Amino acid sequence: MSHLGDFLCEEVVARVHRFIDDELHGGELIAMLQHLEGCESCSHEADVHIRLKGLVRRACTEAAPDHLRHRISLHIAELSGAVPELA
Ligand SMILES: [Zn+2]
Repeated sequence: MSHLGDFLCEEVVARVHRFIDDELHGGELIAMLQHLEGCESCSHEADVHIRLKGLVRRACTEAAPDHLRHRISLHIAELSGAVPELA
C-alpha cells in the first residue's frame, strides 16, 4: 500500500467505479487522478475496469475504451500541465 496524493490505494479502489462513471468531482477527482498518475498498481486496476466498462459500453453505445483512456490522459495532463502521452 502506498500513499500518493490524498488517497490511499484502498480509497482509490473503492471509488474506481464512480470514477469511471464520471461521478467524481472537485477535490475527490483530483486526488483520484493524482494517485492514479503515481501509483502503478491502482492505475492498472483502473485500466482493467475502464477496459471492461468500455467493452460493455461499446456493446451498447459504440463508445470505445480508447476514448475513455484518452479522456483520463487529458485529465492528468490538465493537472500536471504536461502533454498527454498517447500510448
Ligand atoms: Zn495506489
